Amino acid sequence: MTSNTEALRRRSNAVLDGKETPPTDDETSSSSSSESEAPSHIEQSKPRTSSASDNATTESAPENHSLYSTSGSKMIQHVLPWLGLAVWPLMLFLPLLLNHTSKCHYSTLFPRTWYTIHGELWLDKSVEEGGIWEWGSSSDKPLRHPLGLSLGISAVAIGHVFLLAYFRLHQQQVLGNTTPVQRRGVAEYVYLTALKSHLSQPGGFLLLGLYLTITWVFDMLPPSYYSFGGGIQYTRVALCLICQDFAQFVMHRVEHVSHPKVYRISHKPHHKFTNPKLFDAFDGSVPDTAIMILIPLFITAHVVRDCNVWTYMAFGSSYANWLTLIHSETTFPWEPLFRSLGLGTAADHHVHHKFFKYNFGHTFMWFDWIAGTYRNPKDVWGKEFNVGV
Ligand SMILES: [Zn+2]
Ligand SMILES: [Zn+2]
Repeated sequence: MTSNTEALRRRSNAVLDGKETPPTDDETSSSSSSESEAPSHIEQSKPRTSSASDNATTESAPENHSLYSTSGSKMIQHVLPWLGLAVWPLMLFLPLLLNHTSKCHYSTLFPRTWYTIHGELWLDKSVEEGGIWEWGSSSDKPLRHPLGLSLGISAVAIGHVFLLAYFRLHQQQVLGNTTPVQRRGVAEYVYLTALKSHLSQPGGFLLLGLYLTITWVFDMLPPSYYSFGGGIQYTRVALCLICQDFAQFVMHRVEHVSHPKVYRISHKPHHKFTNPKLFDAFDGSVPDTAIMILIPLFITAHVVRDCNVWTYMAFGSSYANWLTLIHSETTFPWEPLFRSLGLGTAADHHVHHKFFKYNFGHTFMWFDWIAGTYRNPKDVWGKEFNVGV
C-alpha cells in the first residue's frame, strides 16, 4: 500500500512537472518505441494502469502528503538515492577484497608459486632477469601464469554484477524517482532479454576478454602489470582512465571524420541508437570495439607503464562499468557533480548519440572542452532533453 501511494505521489509530481508519464505497468507487453510513449523502466515501477487514476492521484495528494510528514521518512527519501554511490567502490570489490588483511588475502588463497618467482614478488623483475615466466610454454616461449588474468576478468565481471543490481533498483525507482535523459523515443525493452543481449555482444565483453587473454598470456604488457606487489595505485588508476579516454577520443573522432566507408563499417552500427539505454553500451561492431577500445587500452598500458596487477584490475573494472553507466537512459544522483568536473555523464553521452557532432569523449569531457566539441546537455533542456538532466 505504501509503495502504491509512493508511486502515485511520484506520478502526481511528474504530471505537475510536465514530464512524460507512464501509461501502463506491463513490463513485458511491448518492445516497440514511440515518441509519445514513456520509458518502460518507469512503467515497470508503477502498479497503475489507467489515466483515470492520474486524476485520482492529483486529487488525493494532500492525503498522501500526510504519509511523509515525519522527518524520518523525509530523510530516508533524501538519503536513498545516494546509496547508489556505493556502486563506485563496489566496482573495485575484488582487488580490495584480495588485498584486505583477512582470510581473503590473495596470499592465503593461492599457492605462492602462482604469483611469485623464487618466493619473491615480481615487482622489480624484468623479463631478462627471468622468473616472471611461470606457466607452461608455447613453442620456445613460456607463457604468463593466468592467475592475474583470471582475477582481472573476474574483477570486471563482479563489478558489473554490482552495477546491474544497482541499475535494476534504480530503474525500478526503488531508490527514488528517476528522470529519463531524453523527452522522446525511449526504447521499451524486456529487462532480461536486453540483459542477455548486452552480455553476449561479440563486440563487447567477449572481444574484451579475448584481448585481455592474448595480451596477458603472450606477455604483451609492461612487466609491472604482472606484479602482485602493493595494493591498488589510485593515482595510476586515474592516469589510466584519462589516457584511455584521450586515446578513445582521438580514435572516435577519426572514425567520425575519416572515409565514410570506415565510419559505416566501424562506428555507424553503434549510432543506430539516438536515444541509448544502458544495455546498448557495448552494442557495436567488432571493428568499432577494436579501434575505439582495444587500441586505446594497448596504448594506455604502454604509456602508464608502472601499474601492478591490482591497479590494472581496478582501472579495467571502473572503465568498463563507467562506459556502461553513461549509456543509461536515466540520470544518476552523482551526475551534477560529475558535470561540473567534466566527468562523463549519461546526458553528456546522449548529446553525442543525439547530435553526432559533439562530446566525443566518454568518461571525461575535458578533451571536448579543449577541442571545442563540447555541448552541454543544458543547451537542449526542455527541447530534446528533460530539464535538469
Ligand atoms: Zn555510445
Ligand atoms: Zn560516435
